[in-house]
Amino acid sequence: MKLIIENLSKTYPNGVQALKNINLTIEKGMFGLLGPNGAGKSTLMRTLATLQEPDQGSIYLGAIDVLKEKLDVRKTLGYLPQEFGVYPRVNAEMLLDHLAVLKGITNRKERNELVEALLHKTNLYNDRKKNLGGYSGGMKQRFGIAQALLNNPKLIIVDEPTAGLDPAERNRFLNLLSELGENTIVILSTHIVDDVKELCTDMAILNQGEVMLRGNPLQVLDDIQGKIWKKIITKEELPEYKQNFQVISDKRVSGRPEIHVYSTTQPAEGFVSIEPDLEDVYFSIINAPEPKTVTQDNEIVCAN
Ligand code: ADP
Repeated sequence: MKLIIENLSKTYPNGVQALKNINLTIEKGMFGLLGPNGAGKSTLMRTLATLQEPDQGSIYLGAIDVLKEKLDVRKTLGYLPQEFGVYPRVNAEMLLDHLAVLKGITNRKERNELVEALLHKTNLYNDRKKNLGGYSGGMKQRFGIAQALLNNPKLIIVDEPTAGLDPAERNRFLNLLSELGENTIVILSTHIVDDVKELCTDMAILNQGEVMLRGNPLQVLDDIQGKIWKKIITKEELPEYKQNFQVISDKRVSGRPEIHVYSTTQPAEGFVSIEPDLEDVYFSIINAPEPKTVTQDNEIVCAN
């Protein structure tokens, strides 16, 4: 089953164009939707989850017309929103059981088995009698996944799930998602490059409502091989370098700025070619002075 998004656009009543003609085909596996805050990720996720309407475009999940056959989508969708609220005074097992009833699983034996299996899958079984109010951020997120899996979904959407998780919880959570990606389409929306780097088989970078880059993380890395250069400069030199070179990022190394520059040839003396990582891909898209577009074969090119 494929998810096919075509010409999807959305402008909010305040004039913000959150999605501009989005085209994406997403297959089974883990898909990373990467973009800075305000890029339009949540708007896209909520639209896919049938919670809001676009102005134009179409979305198909297999044969289901997502924008028209909302109930059919909801039957096969698992959604973990950015703000996932839980009832703090109820324990995980009870709430999961209750949500299973709401999802139409009325046979008690079947429900008990399912709830138990999901608590095991999300590693919450030993904490199943604890009230959700006492759960850590990571446990709450795993509970969110457990509830999203109640209807055995074919499409799982998780919106910014790792924000606020400590490294161990984040790992556990991402491993759980990646297991799910073996049989389903999992869309992980995030502004954290590492989330995508580690697990996704396919990705897109969204910025200002547009898909700026699309491809497999290894392939997009391959495309910028030999084009990222670094140099350590002084703080005072930074504005000048930003003006003269395509500086995609700067960070402090031992208190001095280390800049990364995008260039097909050595930008100037003192620049050293480096092995790019996905963050360089991301910043070359997000911080490019000139607008960049993507060719058919996913090579990054400048629009002018
Ligand atoms: P992201 O999830 O990538 O941070 P969003 O989809 O939340 O991006 O937002 C995209 C843009 O749309 C932002 O400029 C945001 O301020 C705007 N936006 C989001 N929701 C609304 C809304 N309900 N009304 C008006 N503007 C909105």
